[in-house]
Amino acid sequence: MTTALATPAEPVVWVDLFQALFHANTPAWGQTLFAWGQLFHAEGRSNSELTSAVRALTRRNPMPNYPTEFLAALRAELRAQDESVRQQAEARRCSEITRPIRCTTCGDSGWCCGLPSLESVRGPEWIQPRWTCAVTCHCEAGQVLNSRWATRQPEPKPVMSWHDYARKNPHYEAQMETRRLEVAAEVMTAEQEDGPPEWRATVNAILSRYGQDPSGGQHPEDSREQWNG
Ligand SMILES: [Zn+2]
Repeated sequence: MTTALATPAEPVVWVDLFQALFHANTPAWGQTLFAWGQLFHAEGRSNSELTSAVRALTRRNPMPNYPTEFLAALRAELRAQDESVRQQAEARRCSEITRPIRCTTCGDSGWCCGLPSLESVRGPEWIQPRWTCAVTCHCEAGQVLNSRWATRQPEPKPVMSWHDYARKNPHYEAQMETRRLEVAAEVMTAEQEDGPPEWRATVNAILSRYGQDPSGGQHPEDSREQWNG
């Protein structure tokens, strides 16, 4: 019986590789490898995981001798591979978390939100009601986002880029600053007329509940009454 050599295009089957590397061609080995195949299949091991574990066996010193030793060594290699995959994933995750933000405009989200909508802009004026819109940022994240939306399947949906937006509404910075001052003035007026806004009462109630009385002197038990009532 001749064994066909695997061409580079053909994936190597781990059993074939094992037989070739360890001269495991006896009928007894055939049965053993079949049983291992069932076992690894049940464990959800892929052929590529198994072939690289089989290759790693050749670097072992001392080399396994008996089927039970081979099986134990194979499983140890598979565990080592799992561990290295896990460590790589963990390292990737950590570097994602600790990576400093590169774009201060969008915080690396790719979106710039809260810009005056072109529909409610008349020259330098941002007219009432002041609709807002989002555009994709000028940074790399924004460019990736923009092209992803533009080529989205089945419904490509082009979104405006920062570049196009700034060209169509060059006054956006002044408009947003005006709006910011306006909001601050609105909040101040509301506070003067109606006292602190509702949310502040809620925050105070929560603080009191946890014994950090913002106004001083109230027992947590008392504030619970207030919270419920
Ligand atoms: Zn950005």
